[in-house]
Amino acid sequence: MHRLLLLIIPLLGFATISVSSAAQNQKEKTMPDNSPNKKFALVIHGGAGVVSRESIPEADAKLMQQDLNRALDAGYAVLSRGGPALEAVTAAIIVLEDSPWFNAGKGSVFNAEGGHELDASVMEGHTRRAGAVAGVTTVKNPILLARSVMEKSPHVMLAGEGAEKFADTQKDIERVDPKYFDTEKRWQQLQDAKAKEMAELTHTVQGTYFGTVGAVALDQQGHIAAGTSTGGMTNKKWSRVGDSPIIGAGTFATDKCGVSGTGWGEFYIRAVVAHDICARVEYRGDSLALAAEDVINKIVPEMGGDGGAIALDKDGNIAMPFNTGGMSRGWINPDGTRGTAIFRD
Ligand code: ASP
Repeated sequence: MHRLLLLIIPLLGFATISVSSAAQNQKEKTMPDNSPNKKFALVIHGGAGVVSRESIPEADAKLMQQDLNRALDAGYAVLSRGGPALEAVTAAIIVLEDSPWFNAGKGSVFNAEGGHELDASVMEGHTRRAGAVAGVTTVKNPILLARSVMEKSPHVMLAGEGAEKFADTQKDIERVDPKYFDTEKRWQQLQDAKAKEMAELTHTVQGTYFGTVGAVALDQQGHIAAGTSTGGMTNKKWSRVGDSPIIGAGTFATDKCGVSGTGWGEFYIRAVVAHDICARVEYRGDSLALAAEDVINKIVPEMGGDGGAIALDKDGNIAMPFNTGGMSRGWINPDGTRGTAIFRD
């Protein structure tokens, strides 16, 4: 009797496995087609601004490009193994946040009080999920906190003290002493901005930014994500928040188009830059190049603002317009060709 059971039980087990694997196959067949389209691409920026070849020593420009390449590598590694665009965008932005060369994370500019308030946002196109943080002071990688807001909170945007409290609840969010963000170069920029403000007796903010970072990726499933991270504008006052953490202004993504902006945030908010570029592609059928060019080189300057943007569409087309002296940028096209640049080459 015992022997018989011993024979039957494994057979039953086998039958159960066969049935459940058949059910699994059935389920897979009825799932939406998520087959890889194999076309993937990545574009990043390290900020637009009033820069010229003379204003950045050649050795510094090389180091900036080295870090742009490291960010491209980090994002591309995710895309090449079939990983999600959202993951690629965060991976690329973390590298730029950890670099002292860009105005995000480690290299963030000083506000008027000599502190740092960091902003970031991220959006996933096909789900239209989004997350953002504004004015955080102890979060090493604000892009990760923005992603946590999207994935682990019922909200889209958290600011200041509340965002810090939310960070306290997230075990994978690294915190630092605010002094971590102090760098000599940014301190000097604050002194220069204050001197200029005194001389001109104005609160002018033009030319007080450069180095916000962003990324837009298209993954093998045909999904698009976009993200942006910044220290904002040097000498900013009164908890000023720019466009970077505002969905539609500094960051936007649908399943057809993704954008990350960099520029004089007050204008980017009023022109709803990132959304406007994607809306032109989606509603008017404009090419990505035309849409991005019109918004960055017509709408924004006509309003009196300046800056640039990176954009990517579902076919892997990339646009990187800017109306300033330069914009650090890097790209990898669907055919694998890649490059980085800072100036108007
Ligand atoms: N857009 C950012 C802001 O206004 C600055 C930048 O892009 O450099 O905060």
